[in-house]
Amino acid sequence: MTHVSLISPCLNEAEVIEPFYARLCSLAACESGRDFEFILVDDGSTDGTGLILDRLADRDPRVRVLHLARNCGHQIALTAGMDFASGDVVVTLDADLQDPPEVVPMLLAKIDEGFDIVHAQRRSREGETWFKRCTARLFYRLLRLISKESPREECGDFRAFTRPVLLAMRGFRERHRYLRGLFAALGFRQAVLPYDRTPRAAGHTKFPLARMIALAVDGILSFSSAPLKSVLWLGCALWAVSLLFIVRACIGHFILHRTVPGWTSLVVLLTFFTGLNLFCLSVIGAYVGKIFEQGQGRPLYWCSRLRNVDFGTLGPEALQTPEVALSRLTADQREAAGHTRNEPA
Ligand code: UDP
Ligand code: MG
Repeated sequence: MTHVSLISPCLNEAEVIEPFYARLCSLAACESGRDFEFILVDDGSTDGTGLILDRLADRDPRVRVLHLARNCGHQIALTAGMDFASGDVVVTLDADLQDPPEVVPMLLAKIDEGFDIVHAQRRSREGETWFKRCTARLFYRLLRLISKESPREECGDFRAFTRPVLLAMRGFRERHRYLRGLFAALGFRQAVLPYDRTPRAAGHTKFPLARMIALAVDGILSFSSAPLKSVLWLGCALWAVSLLFIVRACIGHFILHRTVPGWTSLVVLLTFFTGLNLFCLSVIGAYVGKIFEQGQGRPLYWCSRLRNVDFGTLGPEALQTPEVALSRLTADQREAAGHTRNEPA
């Protein structure tokens, strides 16, 4: 019997968790040849999400809950889920029902055909704004242009993959993670499966424009050095322009004997080049900042509490992951101090 781990990150999803869980249960009931675990990662929720998840864990031993000690972001919440997954096949999907659980059997069928990674590809995006659709399309085009390893267009983080892929992914511990890029770059046998993305069942998006931009910047800076190179080309182009300017000034002075008083052009050039310098510095700074944060070697996440997690099933390689070891330690300490059950989230 295949063991399947479904992983969902949840941030303030109190309104949708119960219907989402019900849909997961019907999915599991229809797939009789497989057994499931539901890894629900509470990414530092401040509404009742944590309590609801604990209640589900009490009722159903298939529900494993990781309470991250604070909000770490969608990509790291998914990473935490992957660290704690014990399945032969893993599926990641959002908890807001935008990635319909009914598509999961089709993803699993593709895995059965022999693929290692199956990306669910959005055929339509009902309920998403025109602005989000257009900027997403533009971003994927740009990334494809400047990076060899860009993700497939219209593929988010709804995908299924096999255990070898999971183990390979666990080796990638970068802090600024852009999982869809990493999965695309991983190799293995990959396939896409088109699906219709439904509107959010309830609640509101946790990805406002600023966070979308931050994710897009991570995608670009993690997978392309094109911004650094573009600075060089920009510099060259501007040298050429200033060379023309010098030639023109020389002709004016020596041939036409018409010396322009010139402070306007001086100020224009000065401000222009100062601006350019700052722009170039900021591009370099963006990469240096990422090197600094990676150099600190901090854990990506740490859990405050764990529910229904059996470390025996995770495999020795998972236990060596510093974050898993740290979370285990923290959870054990809390348990020893009698702090586990149904505390306020
Ligand atoms: N999410 C999370 N941590 C965050 C932001 C989002 O765990 O910091 C979860 C959220 O609960 C949802 C999924 O990630 O299950 C996708 O987020 P959302 O639906 O807000 O993004 P959108 O679909 O609008 O891009
Ligand atoms: Mg959503």
